[in-house]
Amino acid sequence: MQNSDVIIIGGGVSGLMAGIELAQNGKKVIILEKEDVVGGQCKTEVLDVKGEKYRFDYGGHRFITHNKELLAFVEEVLGDDLLVAQRSSVILHQNKVYEYPLNLKNLIKVAPFRMLFGAFLDSIKVVLGLSKPDDTNFKTWITSRFGKTLYNNFFGPYTEKLWGVKPETLSSDWAGQRISLIDLKDVISKLLFKSKKTARTYARDFRYPKHGFGGLPLKMAAKFEALGGIIVRNAEVQSFVFNDHKIQEIQTPQGSFSGDHIISTMPLNEMSKKLGFESNLGFRSLRFLCLALDIKDFSPHTWQYVSDFELLPTRIQEPKRRSEHMAPKGKSSIMLELPCNVGDNVWNMDEKELLEIVKKDLKKLNFEIEDKIIDYFSFKTEHAYNMMDVDYNINRDRTIEYLARFENLTMAGRQGTFRYIFLDTAMETGLMAASKVLGKNITQKEIFNHRNEKTVIETNSVA
Ligand SMILES: Cc1cc2nc3c(=O)[nH]c(=O)nc-3n(C[C@H](O)[C@H](O)[C@H](O)COP(=O)(O)OP(=O)(O)OC[C@H]3O[C@@H](n4cnc5c(N)ncnc54)[C@H](O)[C@@H]3O)c2cc1C
Repeated sequence: MQNSDVIIIGGGVSGLMAGIELAQNGKKVIILEKEDVVGGQCKTEVLDVKGEKYRFDYGGHRFITHNKELLAFVEEVLGDDLLVAQRSSVILHQNKVYEYPLNLKNLIKVAPFRMLFGAFLDSIKVVLGLSKPDDTNFKTWITSRFGKTLYNNFFGPYTEKLWGVKPETLSSDWAGQRISLIDLKDVISKLLFKSKKTARTYARDFRYPKHGFGGLPLKMAAKFEALGGIIVRNAEVQSFVFNDHKIQEIQTPQGSFSGDHIISTMPLNEMSKKLGFESNLGFRSLRFLCLALDIKDFSPHTWQYVSDFELLPTRIQEPKRRSEHMAPKGKSSIMLELPCNVGDNVWNMDEKELLEIVKKDLKKLNFEIEDKIIDYFSFKTEHAYNMMDVDYNINRDRTIEYLARFENLTMAGRQGTFRYIFLDTAMETGLMAASKVLGKNITQKEIFNHRNEKTVIETNSVA
């Protein structure tokens, strides 16, 4: 058995951040990573077509933070590889293209009269206070604030496609954390007057590594190893030896490990199960279908949201719009995000069959690119989104309470805290976990709740 001051489970950005901070403070640290490469959700896959490289993130990433020290750290790690990019997004809905953030001119030009009129009647109810905010579930959250017209057209079908369940079975937290607008009154005032406050979901500028976001964890890993840290790859944590207050041994195919402290960024539900507690928490997965294209540009947009329920993808992104180095000179590529569950039809489908479906969907969206597809491949992520059903908060609290008995355990990261957080916040939780281990004044509760407030989406970015 190998002993260390600290064992970190997971070599994503959160685990790596914790590792660097601890190693810089003189601790002996081992990171156990189940894959043969670090990065977790922040990796970049490469499609090599006759020596030409097309790069794809696990869903297009962008780095936005209000934390100046964190930005300085990322700048130092990536050096000249860190670029500034601009976001341009649109919503594709029933053969129409809506600019996002919404703008009045485009709305009037594009939206059908019936929809505009319906939204106008809904907004009167909101303005007169006839519709009171109702946070019972996702559907009531939206309909009470934005009315039935926008729910039936956009929010309802898109949400059901993304999550694979009826929106009334989802927690209103998903809406509260994702939608920075307050209600229809707010939509109207933002359409009429330019607000000075920039919500995260609206932020235009962002930081992006030249060759995809996978560059960040790779460079962080190199920094960690240069500080004397050890990364054991292909080391999936399979089981623990534990008593009622301590984890004594961690078992992996690469041998057994023990540490005075354990920081875990593996999914909360899997961690608790291995320690004897069934959490009833789950994840929604994503499959990414990536197409290499023999065209210079697919579109001017970073993201195109596909709201129509009957079409498979939820988002189309063109990696080149983040960095020109993501595709060979004179060529481009697109990635389609396909929501699914492990073991379902989309998860298991043969790549060729999947391509045929997506080709038809692209045609319906008026993208005539069939004869421009040079090559394609797909990859998947099991833990894309923590399933925010109406009971998830109760189940999460129970799981957190159960794990609190293990005095040498600290949970961190997106999956580890079971929170819909971005990579900057995931890195901050790693830093907080390291600070806790180093005896600074940080509690596990603070890590679980870090940036739980509305500022998650309403922060002004320094990036
Ligand atoms: C589609 C999508 C788009 C996103 N877009 C953005 C964006 O634009 N901007 C942004 O800031 N963030 C974005 N994110 C979020 C960002 O990717 C995550 O917040 C961040 O990467 C989480 O890092 P982490 O270290 O907490 O978790 P992870 O990256 O999941 O790392 C956990 C690590 O633990 C390992 N592991 C799991 N189980 C075990 C085990 N049993 N034993 C050993 N190792 C194990 C995994 O292999 C993984 O490497 C996006 C996420 C998704 C899914």
